[in-house]
Amino acid sequence: MQYNVNEKGYYGDFGGAYIPEMLYPNVEELRLNYKKITAEPEFQEAFNALLKDYVGRPTPLYFAKRLSKKYNTKIYLKREDLCHTGAHKVNNTIGQILLAQRLGKNRIIAETGAGQHGVATATVCALMGIQCIVYMGAVDIQRQAPNVARMKMLGAEVRPAQSGSKTLKDATNEAIRDWINNPVDTHYIIGSVVGPHPYPDMVARFQAVISAEVQNQLESLEGRTYPDHVVACVGGGSNAAGIYYHYLEEKRVNIIAVEAAGKGIDTGESAATSALGKEGIIHGSKTLLMQTPDGQITEPYSISAGLDYPGVGPMHAHLFRSGRAEFVSITDDEAMTAGLELSQLEGIIPAIETAHAFALFEQRPFGPEEVVVVNLSGRGDKDLNTYIDYFKLT
Ligand SMILES: *Cc1c(COP(=O)(O)O)cnc(C)c1O
Repeated sequence: MQYNVNEKGYYGDFGGAYIPEMLYPNVEELRLNYKKITAEPEFQEAFNALLKDYVGRPTPLYFAKRLSKKYNTKIYLKREDLCHTGAHKVNNTIGQILLAQRLGKNRIIAETGAGQHGVATATVCALMGIQCIVYMGAVDIQRQAPNVARMKMLGAEVRPAQSGSKTLKDATNEAIRDWINNPVDTHYIIGSVVGPHPYPDMVARFQAVISAEVQNQLESLEGRTYPDHVVACVGGGSNAAGIYYHYLEEKRVNIIAVEAAGKGIDTGESAATSALGKEGIIHGSKTLLMQTPDGQITEPYSISAGLDYPGVGPMHAHLFRSGRAEFVSITDDEAMTAGLELSQLEGIIPAIETAHAFALFEQRPFGPEEVVVVNLSGRGDKDLNTYIDYFKLT
């Protein structure tokens, strides 16, 4: 079985490019060029230089001593929270802006839900001096004021999406409409391993720097390049794709994906796509998504905005269906407790998305000699108000 993408842009039954005719030229231009351009030595040099000096890579692989002791296993944390802007998302936006420049684009558009991808996109646009327009649901603009302010401060224009539920999917529709109208000068930066081929593969390749570093770091820490288990939270699936990437075909490595169960899988307020999803098409790719019996996409729910997505990328749908990865779902309460525990055992306040991955240790035992690598996808500063309300910290 092959777990990475095939020539046609599929992961098993999932993936592909299900797009309106009018979007075809844009997506086709990317598909024909992304591998060639990103393989050029000059591209690689520019990408690696920015990852090093701007993002702060390589991020440490840190042995979490007290957490390991508590759960009687060997836990390493891949510190993506130490990246510039506070999470892994910038690895992808750096890669895509360099690609956009080489395709001759002088205008960037993006969609954002909670605003994290919008901030990562606005950041690289400021870095390169390129015009940036971020579509965001009007309701999300109200809910995520600090990220809206960040984007504006970075020089981006934030355009509200006023249709539908005024949230992420409406922002995505607006971004697609914009791209159709501006096929020549504009590149659309998608923020996760979702969307039509080649986006899932392209984003996974940019994020794959995470597992490439883990291989080197484990070699010196443990004398072997692979862990026994690799763990990540999955919203769309980009931080997970990054830390799984070089281990996809390595059967000695158990892959664990952690999804958000929200208030509980059966409560109707959840984002646990593998448990609840059925095959369908969202944002141009065939994947698993939460839908009603007649195929309407269901509103997802999670306390963490970054996991609040009704689908997963096609790579993850395939990892689930093929049984290659173990899928676990974690409730809001379990995640919040794990976030507090990591703060107090290791002095690291994680993003609430990331806290879901750490709740795994209460749910599932690991052997004392087993090496478990957890992707610490982001820091918790952005979530402080949610932590404050939940734990009544003030
Ligand atoms: C956005 C985000 C996620 C979820 O996105 P993926 O594409 O699934 O990685 C997870 N963690 C953090 C910190 C995020 O900002």
